[in-house]
Amino acid sequence: MSQKIVIDKEECLGCETCSEICPDVFGFDQDEEKAYVIKPEATEVECVEEAISSCPAECISIE
Ligand code: SF4
Repeated sequence: MSQKIVIDKEECLGCETCSEICPDVFGFDQDEEKAYVIKPEATEVECVEEAISSCPAECISIE
């Protein structure tokens, strides 16, 4: 089974850290003030781990 990157939107604080660290993988919806995943399959991209560990809400995961 392939893994994918998931954001728990309920928990997202809208800080934009993930999209700043890793803009190819994470986007930010300015209207909703929530981050979203542009490339869920991009689990191997280096900055993804950094975004996960930098998220203050700890709401990004790989499932
Ligand atoms: S780093 Fe976490 S809390 Fe901040 S915008 Fe991204 S998902 Fe939301």
